[in-house]
Amino acid sequence: MTIQRPGRDNASPAAETGLIDAHGRVINYLRLSLTDRCNFRCVYCMPPDGAPYMPHGQLPTYEELLRLCRLMSGLGIRCFKITGGEPLCRKDAVAFIRRLKRLPGVDGVTLTSNGTLLAPYVEELADIGVSGINFSLNSLNPEHYSAVGRTRAGPEQVLPVMAAAAKAGITVKINVVPLRTYNEGDLRDLTRFALERGYHVRFIELMPVGLGAACAGVPPHEIRAAVERDFGPLSASYDVPGNGPADYFRVSGHAGSVGFISAVSNKFCPRCNRIRLTSGGLLKSCLHRDAGVELKPLLRGGANDAAIVKVLRRAVMEKPAGHTFGDLASEGSRQHFLMHSIGG
Ligand code: SAM
Ligand code: SF4
Repeated sequence: MTIQRPGRDNASPAAETGLIDAHGRVINYLRLSLTDRCNFRCVYCMPPDGAPYMPHGQLPTYEELLRLCRLMSGLGIRCFKITGGEPLCRKDAVAFIRRLKRLPGVDGVTLTSNGTLLAPYVEELADIGVSGINFSLNSLNPEHYSAVGRTRAGPEQVLPVMAAAAKAGITVKINVVPLRTYNEGDLRDLTRFALERGYHVRFIELMPVGLGAACAGVPPHEIRAAVERDFGPLSASYDVPGNGPADYFRVSGHAGSVGFISAVSNKFCPRCNRIRLTSGGLLKSCLHRDAGVELKPLLRGGANDAAIVKVLRRAVMEKPAGHTFGDLASEGSRQHFLMHSIGG
């Protein structure tokens, strides 16, 4: 499924000011993982008994993160996606997000979350100016939801949070990782649910990263065919807010949309606009490369701003042309591929 679309990801003022990699891509987006902790154990992300978490003292502090974000926004990073682990598992995450949003040059701050800890914070996030929340919701069926997330929580905890977010003016997106046997029979209900409410459901192709390599995903062409069978023809849409790699489609008569993020079967590396900071402070210029720069030694070793900016620029310049999914030989060091630490 190949889509021709306008180059919105790489059309940014950053082209004039900031970070352009060796392949001509404008880098204007950071995925910032606040913690490797999570209250779920999704089958494609976290081992059933949890993972050995990084001790709190080894996470970059909020002050250190704000310093990095200030330097990055000075280089043209405009949008920040707060992720994890479950970002709300980190104490004072919302206060941090408020401070981040106030930094000069920061345009967009959004969040990706399983939604189960968000209820008390929705109004505050709207007040801060968080423009979008991506909710991981793999099924509306409580048993299937629990099986994928290996959690006692259920979708009924998250649905009111989505409604509250939408009411507060926050764009609601639903992230679904379609998996054989677990939730492949639930995609129609999820699609209908999103379309009827004006939400944007995105089917994320399973990536063979970390535990994902041992799971079986449902290919996007199969999902698209099923959605068209159930809801009619899909027409490409370019007006869904966001800065990411999803290809969106509208279904006649509905405010919501259906999106596909198909990193494996429709490699979107040529239009990649992002870098990642893992919860441990590793700057990754590509999700699936065993490369990165540890920023904590710089932050804690007295490096001045100019020295850090130099490292950031070099990391972007060395961003690989594309990922190497499927090439297990490239999976050198395991901690570079833990999704709950990288943040997706
Ligand atoms: N806990 C939050 C959540 O689940 O939205 C944020 C962190 S989670 C690592 C970010 C995103 O990565 C989620 O949408 C999750 O489904 C996705 N993800 C994790 N492992 C994946 C994999 N192996 N393949 C595809 N998506 C994956
Ligand atoms: Fe937690 Fe998100 Fe990973 Fe699921 S995908 S275990 S909710 S970090």
